[in-house]
Amino acid sequence: MSACDFSLRHYGELLDAAAAGGYRWAGFDHEPEPGDLFLRHDVDLSLSAALTMARLEHARGAHATYFLMTESVFYNLASSEGRAAIDQLRSLGHAVGLHAVYPNAGRDDRFDAVVAWHNPDPDYVFEPVDGAVNVMQAPWFTQGNYRSDSNQHWREGCPDAALRSGAFEWLQLLTHPEIWVFRGATMGETMRSMLEEKRGEWLVHLAEDRIDLA
Ligand SMILES: [Zn+2]
Ligand SMILES: [Zn+2]
Repeated sequence: MSACDFSLRHYGELLDAAAAGGYRWAGFDHEPEPGDLFLRHDVDLSLSAALTMARLEHARGAHATYFLMTESVFYNLASSEGRAAIDQLRSLGHAVGLHAVYPNAGRDDRFDAVVAWHNPDPDYVFEPVDGAVNVMQAPWFTQGNYRSDSNQHWREGCPDAALRSGAFEWLQLLTHPEIWVFRGATMGETMRSMLEEKRGEWLVHLAEDRIDLA
């Protein structure tokens, strides 16, 4: 048994555990059925981290739903980079939903009919949304069938062993790609690793924008 940490290696182990436990990769186009595993990724900070995780899943035959923001201060989905990210996620076989900022759940044809609120308040988190599935509405969210990795902390424990033994009837597993893809022993270190990569990306963007960096 290797370390239970927030690394891509351990994320791959979780996928292997799910396969060993007999789970099926499920999307939010149907209500949960026994054996379903809903891999949900809220992309808060980094499209490149999302793509890294998406390729790892694709290599294992796993299918996930990526929730992308149109109102992020950290990335621009309307940029060439953002459009390419959506295309790549789709071509890797993943679904794309809207990671919405309340109260704006307006979708366009970039998104499937599924919404996950970013940092939701308790008064609307479980409420249905017009014309789309809210991932936190019943029956997709049910106590005991949900695990999430917020800030590198499993509130109800890492699901590794329970996936491997098939202990969940079904599961919605929320993970944030940036906290697994970038390296660090703490959330702070991991975020600083992300900032180092973003610094390099921005230098490239500046050069491409004909900025004199001499
Ligand atoms: Zn673990
Ligand atoms: Zn979020």
